[in-house]
This record gives sequence, C-alpha cells and structure tokens, in this order.
Amino acid sequence: MGLINEEWRDCKRKNKNQRKAYYLSAEFLIGRSLGNNLINLGIYDEVKELLNEIGIDFESIENYEDDAALGNGGLGRLAACFMDSAASQNLNMYGYGVRYREGIFKQSIENGFQVEEGDSWLKDGDAWSIRVDSDAKIVKFRDQQVKAVPFDMPVLGFENGVVNTLRLWQSEPFEEFNFSKFNNYQYDEAVSEKNRAEDITRVLYPNDMQRAGKVLRLKQQYFFSSASIQDLVEKYKKSYPEDLKFENFHKYHVIQLNDTHPIMAIPEFIRVLVDENGIFFEDALAIANKIFAFTNHTVLQEALEKWNKDIVLEVSPRCLEIIEQINDKLVGEFKKKGLSEEAIDPYRIVRFDQVHMANLAIYIGFSVNGVAEIHSQILKDDTFSHWYKYRPEIFNNKTNGITPRRWLVYANRELSDFISEKLGTDNWKYDLKLLKGLEKYVDDEASLDRLWEIKANKKKDLAKYILDQEGIKINPESIFDIQVKRIHEYKRQHLNILHVIYLYHKLKKNPDLDFYPTTFIFGGKAAPGYFRAKGMIKLINEVARVVNNDRDVNDKLKVVFVENYRVSYGEKLFPAADISEQISTAGKEASGTGNMKFMLNGALTLGTLDGANIEIFERAGEENNFRFGATVDELKEIATSYNPVEFYSKDQNIKDVVDSLVSGEFDDNGSYMFLDIYNELINPQNGQRADQYYLLKDFDSYRRAQEEVNDAYRDKRAWSRKMLINIANSGFFSSDRTIENYADDIWKIDKNEENK
Ligand SMILES: *Cc1c(COP(=O)(O)O)cnc(C)c1O
Repeated sequence: MGLINEEWRDCKRKNKNQRKAYYLSAEFLIGRSLGNNLINLGIYDEVKELLNEIGIDFESIENYEDDAALGNGGLGRLAACFMDSAASQNLNMYGYGVRYREGIFKQSIENGFQVEEGDSWLKDGDAWSIRVDSDAKIVKFRDQQVKAVPFDMPVLGFENGVVNTLRLWQSEPFEEFNFSKFNNYQYDEAVSEKNRAEDITRVLYPNDMQRAGKVLRLKQQYFFSSASIQDLVEKYKKSYPEDLKFENFHKYHVIQLNDTHPIMAIPEFIRVLVDENGIFFEDALAIANKIFAFTNHTVLQEALEKWNKDIVLEVSPRCLEIIEQINDKLVGEFKKKGLSEEAIDPYRIVRFDQVHMANLAIYIGFSVNGVAEIHSQILKDDTFSHWYKYRPEIFNNKTNGITPRRWLVYANRELSDFISEKLGTDNWKYDLKLLKGLEKYVDDEASLDRLWEIKANKKKDLAKYILDQEGIKINPESIFDIQVKRIHEYKRQHLNILHVIYLYHKLKKNPDLDFYPTTFIFGGKAAPGYFRAKGMIKLINEVARVVNNDRDVNDKLKVVFVENYRVSYGEKLFPAADISEQISTAGKEASGTGNMKFMLNGALTLGTLDGANIEIFERAGEENNFRFGATVDELKEIATSYNPVEFYSKDQNIKDVVDSLVSGEFDDNGSYMFLDIYNELINPQNGQRADQYYLLKDFDSYRRAQEEVNDAYRDKRAWSRKMLINIANSGFFSSDRTIENYADDIWKIDKNEENK
C-alpha cells in the first residue's frame, strides 16, 4: 500500500474536477489482490525473485490472502474486470459498492451434498482498503438511522501509474455505543441497536439470478445507493462553489447502474436534490434523465426485481412517494399519447402494489444496454419490447469482456511469455487485438508443439492441485473438460452429467471402446435455497463416486467436483482446460464471461448458440470449436408444442440416462433430489410443461458434439492449431474494449490526458 499511496493521491488530485463515470454495483467479485497488483505495478517478477533468494515461496504467501468474494458470479466479476480495465485504459471511473462483512459463502461437500459456511474474509484484517471516516454519511430508513463508512480500495492500472478508487460502504451504528443505555443496565438494547445497524452490510445475499424479496436486501440496496448519491452531491458542491448550479451536474457525472440492484439511486438522487437542495421536482427529474444509464444482465423473470410497496415503504417512505410521483408522470404522458389504461400496464413503475425497478430505470435513464449481441436483441424483441417501441434510441449493446491481466498475464505466465515472444512485444497486454498477430503461426509446427506443451504443463499443475485439494487423482494426459460457473438449471450442468452417465454405461458395456480418456471437471455454488441446483451437485458427486471407483472404466473416465469454486480457483482451472463447457439453453445466458476466460487460455468451446458464445464462434470459427443444440428461433417455434416425453420414448440413450436417476444406481441418500430432477425432465408440474430448459431436446446433439471432441483430440497438431486460432481471436473479449465502448458511446468521457 505504501507504494500505491502517493500515486493514488496524485490521481485523485488530477481527476478531481473532471467528468467521471460512477459504476454502482451491489457486487464486486474481486478475488485476491496481491499478485494482480504486483503485475499491474510491473514488479511481480522482481518481488518473486527477491523472495526466492531468501528462501520464501511466493505462492505460499499468496495463499494467506482470502478472496474478496463480494459477489455471486459473472455480474460481480464483470464489475471487478471493469475496474481493472478503466484504470488500465486511463479512464475516470469510480466504483461504488457494499463492504459485506461476509462475502459469498464457502462451499464444502459432505457426503456429496453442498454445505455452506460463512466467509469472514476480514478476520485477518484487510490490507487493501483505507477507512475514510471524514467521508461518512448518514443513511435514513423509516425506522432506523445508520452511518455509512467508506472503505476505499485502490485500483491500479496496468503499468501506467493510474490509481482509481473503488469505494465500498459499511454500515455502522450512528453512535458507536449507547452509553446511557449501557449505564442503565439496558445492555441488550444497546447491543441490539449496534447489531441492527451492522446487519445492513453483514452478508451478501447468495442468490444468483433469484430475487430475494426481503426488507434487509432492499435496505442494503438503498443503503449503498443513498451513501453514494450523497457522496456525489456533497463533493460536487465542495468542488464547484462558483458553478453551483445543478443544471451543470450532468456535465460532470454519469451513473451506470449495474443491473436493477442500485436503482434506488434514482429516487434517492431526486430526494436529495428536492428535499435537501431546494430544486423543483421537474428540474431534478430532468437532471436525472441525463445522468442515469442502466445495464440489464438477464432475461430470467425470476431475477428482474419487483418490490412490494410495503417493503419500499419500510425502507424509505419518501422514496416511495417520489417513485409514485414519477409513475404518475409516466401514466400522464402515455395517456396523452392516446394509450389506454391497459396498454400502459407493461410500462407502469407501480403496478398491483409492486414497484418494477427495471421500468423505473428505463423510463428515467438515457441508455439501456444488454451484455452480448443476442441478449441485447432479445431485450428489444421480447423482455423490453414495449419500451423499445417507445424509446428505440436508448437501446444499445455492450458485449462483456474480461481483463487479460488477471486471466492471462497473471494466471498463465507461460502462455503469456509465449505470446510476447511470438509477437515480439508486450503491447498486447493493454491492446488485446494484437493477439491477431499469432495467426501467422497457425502452420508453424514448432509453435503449435510449444502451445501443446504449455497446456500440458498447466494440466499437470491442476492435476497436482486437485489431488491436494480434493484428494482425487486424475490423468493429466486425459482431455480436461471443464464446466465451472454457478449451478443453475439454465446453465444445464445436469445435461453434462447425464451425458457422463451415458458414457459410463457405454464403457461399462464395452470396456475396450475406442474412447480417448476424459476427465470431466465441475465446480460452482448453488444458492442455499435452490433445492434442484443442490440436487444437481449431489448428482454430480454421486456419479463421480460410482465412476471413479469402478475399475472397469476409471482409466478412461473420471469425474471431479471441485469444492468452493471462486476467482482464485478459476485462475488455476482456466489455463488447464481443453474443453470449455458453455451449454446453456439458447436465449438464457445473457453473455457469460467464463467462456471468454477459457478461450483466452486456449480451450475450445463446446457450446450452444447463446450469449457471447455466438460472438466467440463468429470470431474463432465454428470449425475450431464445437457447436450444438437448438437455436433461440428453433426453441421459440416449438415453445408451445414441445413434449420431452417424445424424446424420452424414442431415444434409448435418453431413456436409459433419465431412468438411471430413479433406478437406485445413484444414491441420493433419501433426499428425493434425483426424483425431483427426473420429474422436472418428464412430468409436467405446477401447470408447467416438463423440461423447461430443453435438455432432452438437445441431448442427442450434445452427445454427438462430445463424440466429435473425443475424435478431434487425437490429432494434436490440428487441436493445437484450433487452440492458437481461438487465442488469436480472443482480443475482442478484453474488458478494455468493453469499457472503452461504454466510455465512447454512453459516458462520453475521454481518456485522462493529464495522467499521460
Ligand atoms: C468468470 C466467473 C464467473 C462467471 O462464469 P460464467 O461461466 O460466465 O457464468 C463466475 N464465478 C467466478 C468465480 C468467475 O471467475
């Protein structure tokens, strides 16, 4: 931190009066900072060597650092990649979020079941933040007041001297300890007040793609939105005493709302302007129209936040009033356009006593973006088609990206050095398009062999790590087929494991089958209340137990579920993958970013035409990857006629694997978890047809694609060539490109020349 402080102060001073983008996100899935910061400072090698000389292993030091796991999955990791890229591209972006005392739970597997434990990542202190008491704010709820204390984390640009700031708010009691209560022996009350305040930021909600619907959750959201808005307004008033006109506010601020979670910032902004700064409501609204931009991350209905009015009322009665006022204005405008009450319904911010957060952001904001081409198209055609009719000009796409520093320079040193050597420069580390230059080597045998060797080394490293962590021995020469991501039906880990069961039965029948040995590696957390996702974990572990203990097949087939998948585990997995499993139901995965991390590290994608997979196939060529499954349009066509039982009855392979869920071959220890999955696949339930995610429809196509993988892997040169082409075409997926697109198209901010 000593090294960083001076440059940080410099940057804050230089950037003070400049237009900035403020990235509001309830999640920042940062991971560890030590290695990444040393890379970005350009001193990683020196430090490692110095330590080596005095007999200290750098990795053992790194292992002391807990992941800062303040996010669930892709959305939170995207925010962390954006912070890295903005600093590296010299862009004035400031992050605002929540300092959860407990991040995403730690997962362990007991008897095949997921078990959750707390993640007290702050127990050994926090080396990477500075508490700034002088910037603390008061956040007022209906029945409670708390102090929001900012903790600032420096965000280092890659070898450019830039240090941006990520400000995370922590909730504390307004008065540290109520001594009058304490002295009166009202000890319980004094403590409970403190606890009630600390509860607000005690824990990250572990639901990925699932609304929480709880008062505490909306309190969290309002807490950090309010503190951030107060911070902005206060700083603006301090910095521009002569220019203190709120009409100019939009010249200096643009606020990007990362999903629906920070949308309470909109009514809060209006509240602060109207109630605390004497601005007319209409004028405040006009300013809000110029500063808020909204990113949508999902089309799954269960994730689009709607809040019951009584919950909003409990959190902030004044904000509810403002939301109603905005809604009235909206209804008035649409009536003027001649729309009937009924036609206005889908636009309403308040409807059936619920507040629709996305409608609020789209009505007020000047930009709505999706996170991959197909996703942005679905928003226009489907999810927000009503809004698209009315305000087509605000819709745009920003295909996600990942930072190449963490996910390649840091995580895969050998590959990184290989690339620099081949390109004769390091510049690709901040201009990833330059990777295209690798295509020159597609037919160079020495380069291809070297690439194969690098992958083989990374696979050996991972095999060692898995033996150490999971106690399972895997063959580093086998195909490493990896699916790591949150466990969810739409991501279809059960399609993958059903296919493993198919292979297992096939090998069992014919142990001499010409099959290239394959290790299927899974990892990911299930939301604690998501029974079926937990059943998928149990199923993977049961199949693993049976297969890995069966001498007939276990030279050829291995299954591993890695415990507690997180950023720092990912750094070991992505470099070692041969196959990247991206098998979501078409139309359901907004973008995905795991797919990009794999591609950048030379894995070939086995995937559906969904999210950014489509853009990966476009750039690297379908012939260098493995595409399968129904398209969005095909699924749309059969939406009302689809009957999975037809596939079950007609295809013996499918019948066999589906039946194995209830035959007793795999034991769910009386949890009925496998029966639940079985029922979902072939029995209509709760008025819904079976197989919501089209597993049986796609099973045969997936099986054949897997067969192609198994055949293709035998030709090392041809495989290495595909690897190289994938790496060479992964430049587009740098979050440097994504963040520049936001800066140019939405934020209209320039690179900060003063820092050059
Ligand atoms: C990249 C990443 C994700 C997102 O993975 P997807 O495959 O895009 O869902 C989730 N968790 C962690 C730890 C990640 O690093």
